Amino acid sequence: MIQLNNYELLQKGSYISGQWCSVSDAFFDVIDPATGATIGTLPSATKALVQSAVDSAYSSLSSWRSKPVVEREHLLRAWYDLIVANKEDLARIITYEQGKPLAESRAEIDYGLAYIQWFSEQAKRLNGILLPTKNLAQRAEVIYEPVGVVAAITPWNFPFAMLARKAAPALACGCTVIAKPAESTPLTAIAISELARQAAIPAGVFNLVVSSEPQMVGEVFTGDERVKKISFTGSTDVGRWLYQNSAHSIKRLSLELGGNAPFIVFDDANLGLAVEGAMFAKFRNTGQTCIAANRFLVHEGIHDAFCQKLVERITSLKMGKGYDPSVDLGPMHSRHEREKVQSLVENALGGGALQISIKTPAEKNLGEGFFYPPKLIQNVSPEMAIFQREIFGPVVAVTKFSTEKQAVDLANKTPAGLAAYFYSENATRCARVIPQLEFGMIGVNDTRISNEMAPFGGVKASGVGREGSESGIMEYVEAKYLCHGLTL
Ligand code: ADP
Repeated sequence: MIQLNNYELLQKGSYISGQWCSVSDAFFDVIDPATGATIGTLPSATKALVQSAVDSAYSSLSSWRSKPVVEREHLLRAWYDLIVANKEDLARIITYEQGKPLAESRAEIDYGLAYIQWFSEQAKRLNGILLPTKNLAQRAEVIYEPVGVVAAITPWNFPFAMLARKAAPALACGCTVIAKPAESTPLTAIAISELARQAAIPAGVFNLVVSSEPQMVGEVFTGDERVKKISFTGSTDVGRWLYQNSAHSIKRLSLELGGNAPFIVFDDANLGLAVEGAMFAKFRNTGQTCIAANRFLVHEGIHDAFCQKLVERITSLKMGKGYDPSVDLGPMHSRHEREKVQSLVENALGGGALQISIKTPAEKNLGEGFFYPPKLIQNVSPEMAIFQREIFGPVVAVTKFSTEKQAVDLANKTPAGLAAYFYSENATRCARVIPQLEFGMIGVNDTRISNEMAPFGGVKASGVGREGSESGIMEYVEAKYLCHGLTL
């Protein structure tokens, strides 16, 4: 069992209509990726329970949306304060079920909290618009109303922040929410739901379903007319499935799907800066982020120098269990994720790529954890799976280029369009390259790109919609146009 100060955070089951529900015929285990050991066993929500979560969110909608916006703000602020008060316990829960080092879990909580704060305030700025009219006997305006019941489906790599980024804007503007976390990281979502209960967010406004049958949950969400909006972060395949299955009820969707970020280093880059940017973009969460640098495109003139500097920095990364404070690189999230990365690496090496040896310090006795040491691979070509797919692991895959046009073509050569990074000290080149990159987010000489004030999202197969910023809340409202006839 995870050692905590506040064991109320470890509730069992789904949270519906303000009650914890643990009745089920089926149970599933939550695994610590650092040891392979079971750290929790939870009842899996049945179809009837998922339907009752929709009933609950629907029946609470009318009173929640008609509350004054400042009341909703104060309730979200109470939730925020409780999360801050329980931050250390929450960080431990994230590390135990997800695997990332404790310092990264704390950073994830700060990152998610910033969204809760931003959106609780942003709802007060959802100003309507007074429109000009063609006729003095008319007054025309636009008001914004909540879309209604929102299903928020989140992945395992940021179990707190992804939930905060969806639930906060939805709740702030008057929607009710049913959250569905990944089956391998439900404990963080459970803890957050318990804090929502303690914050006195009214029963039925925020609901949680934990289940080991995601497709069944998806069928209930997409099949129910009362669910007006699905916000999903996860794989492109599941996003596509949700899109297709939502067609008959014309649901609104925000889809934040996989990335395959290029990291371009031009020959006029500041190499020290590029190496530091690469370390963050590649190794945060052991490479398991959707904006992780996936394809290193490096100019032939600085290729060897860049790789050498990067290898030197990687050599300082200590791999081990995330709850050891000296560790930089935790385990992969699951055995399955580790196997996927290993097979991409083997496929690349079989196709002519070259592995550079790296000696990294590792904790002794790594045991049964899903660890995977960092790697750097050169001579990667665009036909290889490691170039075309999201690696989602601590592997630097390097491809050489010789001209700017070649770099841009290579960068755009996959269906993904989430984040891209490039390094160049030449302002003219920066201005020329930015419009040519087909991505929703671009880091120019920087990789710490995401925060609550910025619109996060992708183009092409990386999805639709934006999270964060002023745009993030617009995903949860409908514009209603009013035209008043006036008697003058
Ligand atoms: P990953 O490959 O990163 O695990 P997934 O897309 O499989 O990404 O999972 C992201 C989230 O989507 C998880 O919460 C998972 O349980 C959920 N999920 C998977 N399949 C479905 C589905 N058919 N309907 C609804 N949610 C799903």
